Amino acid sequence: MRVTFTPIHRREIGITGTIAVLQDVTEQEKLEASRREFVANVSHELRTPLTTIKSYTEALESGALEDKQMGPRFVGVIQNETERMIRLVTDLLHLSRLDSKEAALHKEPTDILEMLEDVEDRFSFQMKQKRIRTLIEIKPGVSTAMLDRDGIDQVLDNLISNALKYTPDGGTITMGAAITEDGMLSLSVKDTGMGIPKKDLDRIFERFYRVDKARTRNLGGTGLGLSIAREIVRAHGGSISLQSELEKGTVVTFTLPLKDEGGSAT
Ligand code: ADP
Repeated sequence: MRVTFTPIHRREIGITGTIAVLQDVTEQEKLEASRREFVANVSHELRTPLTTIKSYTEALESGALEDKQMGPRFVGVIQNETERMIRLVTDLLHLSRLDSKEAALHKEPTDILEMLEDVEDRFSFQMKQKRIRTLIEIKPGVSTAMLDRDGIDQVLDNLISNALKYTPDGGTITMGAAITEDGMLSLSVKDTGMGIPKKDLDRIFERFYRVDKARTRNLGGTGLGLSIAREIVRAHGGSISLQSELEKGTVVTFTLPLKDEGGSAT
């Protein structure tokens, strides 16, 4: 709480006194702290690949380029790190557009089963590579909903790519759709993967929060997938939650209004 005192003198009408202004700064301070943390995270996330690129180009320059084995391997590392930076910057731009409510939602009537089948098709190659079975479970009453197809595709892609990353070969990923008691569409992505420790569950939707930084970085994650998903779902007027059990699996569920309720920005 910040208190500011301003003296007032109005001799002509015989008033002197003080105005006290009470200002709640805790919210402001919290916001400022999270902004600082965000900038520190972004800098760190960009610095790591840049440092790798620098040392590998130096190694190439000092002779590795002529080496038939090392040369292509080092170029490969540089390519991977560059791609990681592109993914990160793309995700950051997306988040900043969502934050500033710049991107308008283009809601259209969408067939839910068709949408989930399209997601399944997009990932079928990667699923086959890991021998992961995919299932779609549609509960009675689910047909169409008014939603921004690009936005919800992005949410589903982020959730499925997490499920794929953190599920060992031979597992199962299930996409589900149901209608909740209060008449919302509920979509879920469930996997039989490694799960998330209880202590991490509260922070999992935070920007750059990762259970195991080194490992998820190696799997190509930016640490922004779930926060982007949450922003898009919130822009639709829905909510998202995650349940998980170690060594058993994870299920992420999000709700969306069935009809257009006037939400206008992603
Ligand atoms: P990332 O790009 O690193 O996957 P996300 O924001 O999508 O970032 O996820 C944050 C973290 O949550 C991940 O780094 C991972 O530790 C954990 N996580 C997300 N989804 C799953 C899942 N289905 N199974 C296990 N861990 C998960």
